[in-house]
Amino acid sequence: MLPTSAESRARTAGTTLTDASRPVLVRGGRLVDPSAGFDAVVDLLVEDGTVSRISKPFEAPARDASVVDADGLWLFPGLTDMHVHLREPGATASETVESGLRAAIAGGFTRVAAMPNTDPPVDTPARVAEMAERGRLAGTADLLVVGCVTRGRKGDAVADIGGMALAGAAAFSDDGSPVLDPGLLAEAMAAAGAAGRVFIQHAEITDLSRGGAVNLGPVSRELGLAGIPDSSETGAVALTLEAAMACGGRVHLTHLSLPGSVDLVREAADRGACATCDVTPHHLALDESEVLRSGACAKMNPPLRSARDREGLVERARAGRIDAVASDHAPHEARLKEAGLAGAPFGITGLETALPVTFDALGRMGAMSPLKMLSLFTTGPASILGVTCPSLAPGRPFEAVLFDPCEEWTPSRDNTRSRSTNTPFLGRTLRGRVRAVWKRRLVYIDGDFVP
Ligand SMILES: [Zn+2]
Repeated sequence: MLPTSAESRARTAGTTLTDASRPVLVRGGRLVDPSAGFDAVVDLLVEDGTVSRISKPFEAPARDASVVDADGLWLFPGLTDMHVHLREPGATASETVESGLRAAIAGGFTRVAAMPNTDPPVDTPARVAEMAERGRLAGTADLLVVGCVTRGRKGDAVADIGGMALAGAAAFSDDGSPVLDPGLLAEAMAAAGAAGRVFIQHAEITDLSRGGAVNLGPVSRELGLAGIPDSSETGAVALTLEAAMACGGRVHLTHLSLPGSVDLVREAADRGACATCDVTPHHLALDESEVLRSGACAKMNPPLRSARDREGLVERARAGRIDAVASDHAPHEARLKEAGLAGAPFGITGLETALPVTFDALGRMGAMSPLKMLSLFTTGPASILGVTCPSLAPGRPFEAVLFDPCEEWTPSRDNTRSRSTNTPFLGRTLRGRVRAVWKRRLVYIDGDFVP
């Protein structure tokens, strides 16, 4: 547990930190900035919402600055989550843009890309603009809008990708459903490429996975449930990469659950394909046996796989073979998950637990440095999406997270910002917690949002 004195120090700082007119001196924190390859204990001064100076630790004069005692804490740029579901419009009992973006901030994410499988789906320029406006009104994390690849996500005709890009769409995906028709794939990749955007593939051959609730294996057999085979993912990954190679398009494979899928992406990239991939925190941390403990709160698509598969993903992330970690935050109101394993919808929440869960899975015993782990949440997703990555170099806007790597805490219904709590990590002690978030000004500190 964090010593009470440090707890009260941060709280004391919070009372003056909300005065936006004063400079802020973050004193003695470990600054970890992947975009600059920087990792050292420093003092960092912020003036007018901009990083103005980085100096030796505990030496900068405070003058009239509000001082944040960051001794023992990490300071890093605001994180990007390139795959979340905010459920608005259509399922606001599970999440809204406002509640989802607050959950993002509480988890350290200042930018999130929202998938378009809402009701109605985000498949026209007008709907993209409407979503972007909802994000601006929320005024917390930045919302990057992902537009549909096909009209109505029906998989028959490519949507107005160029028009949606002009309206502000950051990427394109039919997430929740794959796009596997070779003609559609080529047309979609060409349109997204012409608009300078990435095509994000949900890799699943639904003819192979249909009816499945969990991974095909000992757990599906024990529970008497239909299982989802590896081939439904690896087959779709192979088809997608083949199409990308044939038409020279750029593709990103999201939420890969199998080491074999990651290897296919890397082999294609080695042969010249423009292909990247992400994995989720839960596929790095949990395996199919979790289904026996958490039931429907461990049901997601793709499913948790075998223990060996999980280890394989961790090895590949540590070896730098995975480009990003994305939460696939998928909130569902409680009554939907109460339908049980066979009947409940796929997906778990993840924005508020992504960092501690990933750090525990990848960084245990110093197996992966904070700099490398944080690159999966910063430079990795930013380069896939083609957006500028927040950095804490002098002259850059102060978009930053103060993080206590040692604080232990337990996600509960009371401390969750999302409207939903469908996660196997509910009630489980996690290590590492976001203490404060700035977006030029302080927006969040010790569990509270600054108005
Ligand atoms: Zn998906």
